[in-house]
Formats: sequence, C-alpha cells, structure tokens
Amino acid sequence: MIDVTENIRAASQRIRALEQEYGRPEGTVSLLAVSKRQSIAKIREAAAAGVVNIGENYLQEALDKKQELADIPQLVWHFIGPIQSNKTRGIAETFDWVHSVDRAKIAKRLNDQRPVDQGPLNICVQVNQSAEESKSGTTSSEASELCQQIAELPNLTLRGLMAIPAATDDEAAQHRAFSVLADLFQSLQTSHPDMDTLSMGMSNDYAAAIAEGSTMIRLGTALFGPRQSRIRQV
Ligand SMILES: *Cc1c(COP(=O)(O)O)cnc(C)c1O
Repeated sequence: MIDVTENIRAASQRIRALEQEYGRPEGTVSLLAVSKRQSIAKIREAAAAGVVNIGENYLQEALDKKQELADIPQLVWHFIGPIQSNKTRGIAETFDWVHSVDRAKIAKRLNDQRPVDQGPLNICVQVNQSAEESKSGTTSSEASELCQQIAELPNLTLRGLMAIPAATDDEAAQHRAFSVLADLFQSLQTSHPDMDTLSMGMSNDYAAAIAEGSTMIRLGTALFGPRQSRIRQV
C-alpha cells in the first residue's frame, strides 16, 4: 500500500534537511507533485497533506482531473510535458505554469491564447543540455534568445528554467548536470533578474538537484508510487 500522506511528510522533511545541509535558506525549495497517471484519490490525499503544486503531462488527462478537483481551488496547476502546437490553447486556458516551453512559436501561441483575465502564464524554458535530438528542450546556447522573446510577451511571465537530465544513478554525474544548469540560470539572471525558478530534480536525483541550487523539485513516484500504465492519456 502506498501511503501518500506519509510519503509527502517524509519528502518534505528530507527537503528541509537538504536545504540545511547545503546552506540553502529554509523554504527555498518547493515541491511540485507530479500526478500524471495517478488517481484522483491520490491527488486528493496529497492536497489534504498540504500539497499545492500539481504537475501534469497530458492536456486531456489534466482537464478531466481539474474538473473533478474543482472543489480544491488552491491547487496550482503546472504543465510539464512536451507541447504540441494544437494543445497550446487548452494549456493556456487551464494551467498556471508551463515548464516545458522550448521554442518561440509555442511561447507566442501561449501568449496569444492566454485569457487576459487569468493574468500572465508563468513560464520556464526547458533546456536540454545533452542536445539529444529525441528530447524536448532548447540548447543552452539558444536559451538566452528564447528567454528574451518570452520576456517581451505581455501575457507570459518568465520564471526560469526547467530540465530533465539523463537519468543516472551516478551521483557525481547528477551533480555535474545540475551544476551546468545552475550556471546557465545564474548567467541568464543578469539579463532577467526577476527569474526565480530553477525547476530540476525528480524522485531519483532531487538531493543532487537541491545541492546544486534547484528551487522546485518535481516528484512523482516518490510521492504516489508507480504510475498506472494507462489512464485517459492523450
Ligand atoms: C514524470 C515526470 C516527473 C516525475 O518523475 P518521477 O521520477 O516519478 O519523480 C518529473 N518531471 C517531469 C517533466 C516528468 O515528466
């Protein structure tokens, strides 16, 4: 049996301990609970345990869940999956944050389709340092131009960077990848001092991410257990 409440308590405690260990001020690392292919019951349990930030990868699944969870208005919805052009309207209308913007065309569409009365959409630029063709994300060298383009769009607020380094159990490699991202983040902050979010670290590598400066870790299986193989996925 997965005990979501206990997992959240334990993860929150570990985050506070890691902040202390690495000299990060208390509360600088926030928790994003990644609920793709997890049940409504588990998300409710997470919300009852104090989780506010919810991450989803698939628009249709998120639309269904948001409707079912409409009685918990304090939830903040983060889109973290690859973005197809034909999904931007739904994403712009449904989410509070998008972590996976990797090209100007998508940023422009999100800006144009964001309902003005909902306020600006919070944006992180997804960076793919390993520059694998198959993966989403802009290259480090293109990130600066994309950040500038986003900063000029009135219905978007540039919040920072997101990355998913190659999964590895090699802790030194985890630290190296996250430290490259942290350096890029800091250098972009000279042009964009209001950027405050470095979204990096998942269930398997969040300790290294916190050590290197993450401000938001995205935990799925560590909180909710294994994902269901298919749940209304689009
Ligand atoms: C699924 C997913 C996560 C969560 O992964 P876990 O290994 O289950 O913690 C985090 N970030 C992104 C972008 C994801 O797609």
